[in-house]
Amino acid sequence: MQFWEKELETLQRKDLEKLQLERLRATLARASQSAYYGNLYKSKGIIPESIQSVDDIRKLPFTTKQDLRDNFPYGLLATDQQNVIRLHSSSGTTGNPTVVYHTKHDIDSWANLMARSLFAAGVRDTDVFQNICGYGLFTGGLGFQYGIERLGCLSIPAGAGNSLRQIKLMQDYGTTVAHAIPSYLGRLYDVFIENGLDPQRDTKLHTLVIGAEPHTEAQRRRIEDMFGVKAYNSFGLSEMNGPGVAFECTYQNGLHIWEDAFIVEIVNPDTLEPVPDGEVGELVMTTLDRHAMPVIRYRTRDLTRIIPGECSCGRVHRRLDRITGRTDDMFIIKGCNVFPMQVEGILMKASEVSSEYRIILETINDVDEMIVEVELNKDWSADFWKEYEAVAKRLVHEIRDEVLAKPIVKLVEPGSIPKSEGKAIRVIDKRTSTVEQVIVSCT
Ligand code: ADP
Ligand code: ZN
Repeated sequence: MQFWEKELETLQRKDLEKLQLERLRATLARASQSAYYGNLYKSKGIIPESIQSVDDIRKLPFTTKQDLRDNFPYGLLATDQQNVIRLHSSSGTTGNPTVVYHTKHDIDSWANLMARSLFAAGVRDTDVFQNICGYGLFTGGLGFQYGIERLGCLSIPAGAGNSLRQIKLMQDYGTTVAHAIPSYLGRLYDVFIENGLDPQRDTKLHTLVIGAEPHTEAQRRRIEDMFGVKAYNSFGLSEMNGPGVAFECTYQNGLHIWEDAFIVEIVNPDTLEPVPDGEVGELVMTTLDRHAMPVIRYRTRDLTRIIPGECSCGRVHRRLDRITGRTDDMFIIKGCNVFPMQVEGILMKASEVSSEYRIILETINDVDEMIVEVELNKDWSADFWKEYEAVAKRLVHEIRDEVLAKPIVKLVEPGSIPKSEGKAIRVIDKRTSTVEQVIVSCT
């Protein structure tokens, strides 16, 4: 097995924990330089010596997205602005944006984590890497770019969209690896087919890196079959840099979370108490190697679990399971708690439909309904409409068995569901009644 940084990736657990403890204390000291953490820790009497073991992290308060917003723009900055060389921020359409600052050290450390991640997924300096992702304030563009360069691949900073141009770039330069969000890849595939091209025959692609949004295992397998490649899951969030936080290795059995750079906790989102390995809860993360803006015990709202046991690749860093959703993605319909990924899991197993779907919640005759709209697969001929009813019925049953609420399933023409520019918008809530908002457990 080859490693990007063998020593750090294969440390003994106890040595990794020792490193985490040192870095956590240094992080705490650094964070205390910021106005926000400085005041908070002072008021609670927290000092670096309060931390005697990694588990002592539980003595520290959580940080939420709201805390970042409330302290916009510089409240969490822990160094002189003169040392900061870049910021990334969310769009901020719904209030203050969340902004994250980086020093030269931080950018360097992030690039290294990104290179380590890509290397673990089998990418090498001989690859031609096309980054199909927005550049700018969004972290996916530059985050990947620096990692690709650090690894030494020939990088193509293609940016997002314009599928014909993406295909041309792939063909002109012999792209072997590409990064894109999973919801875009189905559309890119359609453009190949519409132009009489086959990605398996007409490109040199062998690997796709997919992430930034939730997707199911079935969706991944579909993407792999369409393109004839291996597709690796990439997880990150801007508060923890962006991409390069957790990544699948070539075994594709969970995402190694780089524990020399982050402390990961999984907590029960209601009690905020830790849950044992293997159990699903909310992911809470702490930066260990960020100078400009350390973030401590950040509640990501992502739901996942630690996969117990060791990975056959030899990396000691524990593995996160695929994100099943965010605490704020969940909706309640007919008294049942539903995550969009449960619906996706059913749809992606049906060969008659494509990956384009959306869930519309709507009040019809005073009743809240869940309407699942999904586009038919391109290969289905007009004859298919005869089978429409049978397929729709089957999907209604399968979705009801999974989420316990009966949906209305609409099979729609390929291309008819509006596409979003960035990450896919899976749920549209048009409900006017509030009756269904009462939380009732279905199980
Ligand atoms: P936001 O989407 O909150 O504006 P980011 O662009 O930082 O900000 O996105 C981070 C979020 O995207 C994560 O918290 C998670 O919900 C989602 N995400 C990122 N990568 C993945 C992945 N591989 N699988 C599922 N969800 C992901
Ligand atoms: Zn592994």
